[in-house]
Amino acid sequence: MRLMLLGPPGVGKGTQAKLLAKAYGVPHISTGDILRQEVRDGTELGRQAKEYMVRGALVPDDLILAMFESRLDREDTRPGFIVDGFPRTIPQAEAFDRMLARRGLKLDAVVTIEAPLEELVRRSAGRRVCRQCGAPYNVYYQPPKVEGVCDVCGGPLHQRDDDREETVRRRQEVYRAETAPLIAHYEAQGFVRRVDGSQSVEAVLASVQKVLAR
Ligand code: AMP
Repeated sequence: MRLMLLGPPGVGKGTQAKLLAKAYGVPHISTGDILRQEVRDGTELGRQAKEYMVRGALVPDDLILAMFESRLDREDTRPGFIVDGFPRTIPQAEAFDRMLARRGLKLDAVVTIEAPLEELVRRSAGRRVCRQCGAPYNVYYQPPKVEGVCDVCGGPLHQRDDDREETVRRRQEVYRAETAPLIAHYEAQGFVRRVDGSQSVEAVLASVQKVLAR
């Protein structure tokens, strides 16, 4: 299964990607997660990327493409992958198309998940992530059993810097301008399946699996 998830920040791509990765037994590749790990590790890439991430801006294509390609070439992607948060610009999409073509690979589908803007802002602002294991929560929709504590590993929950409201709105604007045009790019290739992201986590997952079975 080679699947790409597209959709605005806060629509639940990361949550769905993790569930789908488990369901299909393939790795979840999130360029946002990789970048956040680089920032935590204090690497040169992390240092450069952080300047853009804290502003809600996109990290330059050349940095992302080199990073993504080396992830794509790891052994675990042989049975497929669920890619989330990449590509984010038309040049990234064109470069990804070429990477796949060079390897003789094809995507099975591009699933776009959508929801109204105010809902997305509320979701992002409510999002919390476990500092230790990365499990996602939402104070409005999917709260942990104990406030501020991860159900899975007991680690502390925190809010990502780029989930603060002003940055969230900026990231929505960047999505409309830079990433939304990718839907037409993949529609032209016949890959696009649309899913309503304003449903519950379970209902969105069921909808994605339904459109994939078509
Ligand atoms: P995400 O977790 O996917 O929302 O990504 C968090 C931040 O990482 C974004 O707001 C960007 O600053 C950066 N980022 C992640 N993926 C990409 C990408 N494919 N291209 C450019 N910047 C990215």
